[in-house]
Amino acid sequence: MVAIAATTIAYPALQRLTVVEAAPVAAGPPVSEVLGAPAPEPTVPEALAVTLDQVAIERRGVELVSRSLVTRDPAPTCSGVVTSPGRNGRLPASVLCDLWQAPYQDRADAVVTLFALNDDFRAAFGRDLCLTSGYRTLEQQAALRAKKGGLAAPPGTSNHGWGLAIDICESDYTGERGRWLDEVGPVYGWANPPWAHRGGAGPYEPWHWEFTDAVAALESGTGE
Ligand SMILES: [Zn+2]
Repeated sequence: MVAIAATTIAYPALQRLTVVEAAPVAAGPPVSEVLGAPAPEPTVPEALAVTLDQVAIERRGVELVSRSLVTRDPAPTCSGVVTSPGRNGRLPASVLCDLWQAPYQDRADAVVTLFALNDDFRAAFGRDLCLTSGYRTLEQQAALRAKKGGLAAPPGTSNHGWGLAIDICESDYTGERGRWLDEVGPVYGWANPPWAHRGGAGPYEPWHWEFTDAVAALESGTGE
C-alpha cells in the first residue's frame, strides 16, 4: 500500500486541494486509486495537518481528506487569505470570493470552508447547499432592515457585513438536511449561533449560519 504520507498539500489547501507531490512507488497502484481506496488506518499525515480542514481531519479522519483530494476543487479563484477584517459592509473586493450560488459572496477564509462544507453536502444530498444571502454592503443591510425591521441587524453590526454569515434556504435548514447541517457544519467551523436559536438572545433565525471562530475573533455585534 502506498503511504499517503508521500502526498503533500499546498497551503492554503482549500484554495485548490491539489496533490502537488506524490512520490512514485514501484509496483504500486496509481495515486488516484490509492486515494480512492479505504484509508488503511485512521492516522493523519503530518503534511495534511496544516490546512483549514484541520478540524475536519481530526473529527472525521483520513476518509474525508482522501475524498477531498479526489473530488474537490473548491473556490478555485479564491485565495482563502484575509489579512484584515476591513470595515463592516465595506469589505474590499480583494477579500471577497464568490460562493457557488450567484450572486452571493463572503470573506475569502469563510468561503473556502463553505466550499468544503458544500462538497460534503453535495456528496450526501446530490446537490449544492441552497443559499439566500451572503455578504451584504451597508446599503444592502439598510435595505433589508427597512424591509424586515427587527429581523435584520442595524447596518454596520450584521455578521453578513463582515462576510462571515450565510442564510440558508428553508429546504436545507429543516428536516433531514437541517439535522445533517447541525452535525456536520461545526466540523467546518459553521453553525447557527446560539442567539438565533429558539429562545435565544436574538430573533429566532434558524436560516442564519456563521463562521463562528472568525465572528468570535471580531467580537462584533450579532444579528441577521
Ligand atoms: Zn443571516
